[in-house]
Amino acid sequence: MVVGVLVELSNKSIDKVFYYLVPDKLDLKMKKGIRVLVPFGHQQLEGFVLEIKNTIELDFDLKYIIDVLDDDVIINNEMFNLGKVMQAKTLSTLISCYQVMLPKALKAKNGISINKKYDIYYRLVNVPEHLTKSQEKIIKLFENKSVVSKKEILNISSSSLKTLESKNFLIRVEKEHYRLEYDKVAVKKYNLTDDQMAVVEEFNKSKDLVYLLHGVTGSGKTEVYMELIVNVINNGQTAIILVPEISLTPQMIKRFTERFGNRIAAFHSALSEGEKYDEWRRIVRGEVDIVIGARSALFAPISNLGLIVIDEEHSDTYKQDDSNPRYNAIEMAIERAKLNKDCKLLLGSATPSLESYARARRGVYHLLNLPNRVNKRPLPKIDIVDMNKNIKNMKGHFSNILIEKIKNKISLGEQVILLLNRRGYSSFVSCKDCGYVFKCPNCDITLTYHKSTNNLRCHYCGYAESMIYTCPSCNNNSIDSIGVGTERIEEELNSLIPNAKIVRMDFDTTSKKGSHKKIVKDFSEHKYDILLGTQIVAKGLDFENVTLVGVINADTSLNIPDFRSSETTFSLLSQVAGRSGRKDKEGEVILQTFNKEHYAIRYVKYHDYLGFYDMEMHIRRELKYPPFYFITYIRISSKDNNLCYKESLKIKKSLEKYLDKTIILGPSVSSLFKVNNVYRYGIILKYKKQDNLMEVLEKMIDVYKSNRKVAVDLNFNPKHF
Ligand code: ADP
Ligand code: ZN
Repeated sequence: MVVGVLVELSNKSIDKVFYYLVPDKLDLKMKKGIRVLVPFGHQQLEGFVLEIKNTIELDFDLKYIIDVLDDDVIINNEMFNLGKVMQAKTLSTLISCYQVMLPKALKAKNGISINKKYDIYYRLVNVPEHLTKSQEKIIKLFENKSVVSKKEILNISSSSLKTLESKNFLIRVEKEHYRLEYDKVAVKKYNLTDDQMAVVEEFNKSKDLVYLLHGVTGSGKTEVYMELIVNVINNGQTAIILVPEISLTPQMIKRFTERFGNRIAAFHSALSEGEKYDEWRRIVRGEVDIVIGARSALFAPISNLGLIVIDEEHSDTYKQDDSNPRYNAIEMAIERAKLNKDCKLLLGSATPSLESYARARRGVYHLLNLPNRVNKRPLPKIDIVDMNKNIKNMKGHFSNILIEKIKNKISLGEQVILLLNRRGYSSFVSCKDCGYVFKCPNCDITLTYHKSTNNLRCHYCGYAESMIYTCPSCNNNSIDSIGVGTERIEEELNSLIPNAKIVRMDFDTTSKKGSHKKIVKDFSEHKYDILLGTQIVAKGLDFENVTLVGVINADTSLNIPDFRSSETTFSLLSQVAGRSGRKDKEGEVILQTFNKEHYAIRYVKYHDYLGFYDMEMHIRRELKYPPFYFITYIRISSKDNNLCYKESLKIKKSLEKYLDKTIILGPSVSSLFKVNNVYRYGIILKYKKQDNLMEVLEKMIDVYKSNRKVAVDLNFNPKHF
């Protein structure tokens, strides 16, 4: 027997299958998708078995594998195929594609040492003729159970257990112990509204593959997901629900477990690697019908998949941007749905990404709408505070009106969420008096300040101008870099409203395991009046007593050097506004901004997604951005700055030769120009249709794969670069 093994080395030059012989004693254990130990040069490496053959014709002698590491398949057939698709779409190494699909505990190196925990149970195989009283009680435990835990039996009598076990009336069985338990609780199930019902029916009737549910905040999307999942389960199928990040999971998991009990596996970043591995194993054994988690939960090895839901589909966390393989979970979800029989993908959002909505408009995705909040509750009224006019009367970062509203809500026993919009922290430069921001004349994108060279640069096209300290718009000398922290805002609040109970939710206060969940729980139990935080407070949370949302600085995210900055801002502000007035009490929102006239702010005020969409599409078309053009980002990095730049130029020249229908920008320094002494340059490709693109890029990657001085990475349709 000969096996093809993909070894665990992420070096690009050896990303291929190597063949090994299988010693006779391991023959029976061999399966496609398990891990094996193999000799490789003078090392021993772990790898995945991807092929099994009887013989192979090669003109050299093969080595034998050393050992088999798994009893059960780690990469099943579906994952095997999905990995290949991912490789083709990202041009990353195949091994990195499989690694990203597996829990860390299963990545070869630490794979073997994970210890499982066991619980002891007993099975009744025979009933003795004469029973003692306690023996009778024990036998009774088995009336409607096939196995009973040792603990339960010990509660009756340990000596009887001993007797029954020694005479083989009871047989000991060990069941794996999982580290997490979920309890189903009786919850009141809502009757779906007519709108929700219509969506469910349209979805169930249709045979399309991909759906986009555009539903305003509080329109009951989650309730729709649950109803669809009930149908899927009744059909004997299973479902995966993706949520953007940990901030969404506690409430979402709570709602799902209350309804579906322990037929759920949940992955989120607060789990230890061991706990994640436990969840993974429960899925493999078919013990769950529903998987919930962030991006990589898409690769859970669940079988009979009938539905994938991607909630808050506009979220940038669905794109892995920071390391290879730089895959898009939506794209991969479509592929996974195709690999299953009768499987559909549902994308949901109050503010769909422009790409997704454009696809829905063109009929590529099936559009479903929930235009109103549940039971016709109104969307919150949004007031804009013009900071240009208020700047003189501000108390710290607070306008009088915002302070008065907060005090008022607290006195009524209601709660407040405050958002500090911190994207773009201090990297951009603006005028403190008039809000003027420096932009690139070619790209309409905010320039970034570089301290070392004291100039302002465009990270897209390389344009640069020297830093000035007099504002070109108002002539004052108030140019400054921007950035405040939640801690400072908390201090200000403490002195402005001393009796308010404030809880902060940001990266610092939520990095400890379980702390995020606790903040959410405490706030929902009204242990605090004000929840203050960064982007993390904007999404998904459902608190019925919140009637005021305040945004301290609505526009910082408008100024990040990214063509998506308006979209990001619109969606962030709409999402955070959507936290207000979700149940019986009407909600309000106050947005403090320097850019009252900016269209992203204006459309938020009127809850007008479609208005924003039309306007933004117009701009994207003009500037040749997605969804009208595709973008691919090529990152060239090296410890040698000169070499890096030279190679970047060389790459650009040769791409220009082969990619005739593509706009090629750069090379320019990337937003993180120097990281760990590695310099980075970027080349941007914009194209509508370039048939030979993948072929050309694959050749380019090939040229650099064994280059030790210069590395080249690809990011197709990045969210950030
Ligand atoms: P979304 O996900 O669209 O923001 P949710 O599913 O969180 O909306 O629903 C908003 C609120 O309305 C939640 O508190 C939810 O429990 C409640 N809700 C949802 N559907 C119904 C319904 N059919 N009847 C009554 N309340 C509902
Ligand atoms: Zn530019």
